Amino acid sequence: MRAAVYRGPNDLRIETVPVPRIGPRELLVKVAVCGVCPTDIKKIHYGTVPPPRIFGHETAGTIVRLGPRAQGFRIGDRVALHHHVPCLDCHACRHHAFAQCEQYKRTGVTAGFEPAGGGFAEYVRVMPFVLPGVVKIPRKNSFEEGAMLEPVNTVLKAIKRLSLLPGDTVLVAGQGPIGLMFTRLLHLRGMNVLATDLMESRLKLARKLGARWTQLASTAEIPPTAFPLRSSKSQIANRKSQIPLDSAILAVPSDAALRQAIQRVRGAGQIMLFAHTRRGATTGLDLASVCVDEKDLLGSYSSDFTLQNEVARLVFSRKLDVRQLITHRFPLAEAAKAVQLASKPTPQSLKVVISP
Ligand SMILES: [Zn+2]
Ligand SMILES: [Zn+2]
Repeated sequence: MRAAVYRGPNDLRIETVPVPRIGPRELLVKVAVCGVCPTDIKKIHYGTVPPPRIFGHETAGTIVRLGPRAQGFRIGDRVALHHHVPCLDCHACRHHAFAQCEQYKRTGVTAGFEPAGGGFAEYVRVMPFVLPGVVKIPRKNSFEEGAMLEPVNTVLKAIKRLSLLPGDTVLVAGQGPIGLMFTRLLHLRGMNVLATDLMESRLKLARKLGARWTQLASTAEIPPTAFPLRSSKSQIANRKSQIPLDSAILAVPSDAALRQAIQRVRGAGQIMLFAHTRRGATTGLDLASVCVDEKDLLGSYSSDFTLQNEVARLVFSRKLDVRQLITHRFPLAEAAKAVQLASKPTPQSLKVVISP
């Protein structure tokens, strides 16, 4: 079969590799679509993990082979895969810290080499410990919708880490595919969302998905006049510089946005770091904002297995309609091009997917 093999920093090559052999309790899935995720892009660009590997973990496809002891599945099932599944039993799992669970850190979907997701290939092998994460895709839904379950899960997990009350005002910095998912899910939960981005085209979609206010992020500060798109002029005047942000979610790895968010969030508000995944970064934060102002600095990484049914309902019912977030589709042969576009988005591009 063909696969896009990572051979070193910025080096993705289309190669012929063996179709994975499966064990008695495993599945072989023919990949229909795989999303290009920023965490994979970072590994490819910066070479943070040793090659060779086959990346791609937002995978949906069809079961084409079943181990004799793989139960609950049939050949022909259309499924979405999760490459990480926690044990639900260890110290970390008992604290609901699934991303820190040793089993969770193992990758259970592979197309060969050191397991790394494997979705950028024609077939993947699904190991027994991630079978509880396999979700069947309803007939009315597409493979692309199935492939979005994983990123939506990571977003819902982060939202659940925040102590929000309906009617709260939440800043979502960055309206790429992930930021737009935040905007939509927060709106569905009754929050007032202020969406910011560098691109007007994305703000337009953010408004469509439920953002109450939008603001071009190029202006260094978020001026109070950014707020009342749907309010009268007098309300604007009254509310000037008074609207408190209860929370801020950073869906961009921008330190300037972080400093701004810390400033803008009210006392005892919360700041969620969702995109600061590169190690070694330090910022000159005033830690009294945390101690005296009681502002919480939180992070969230990866998915929460226990949210999967809720995520599937949101996506498959199209309350969160992910179809409008997918703008570009590439064949496997152009995997490098897909990664390139996803890492340098244009005003027209949002989620990029690869279809072998
Ligand atoms: Zn991802
Ligand atoms: Zn565990």
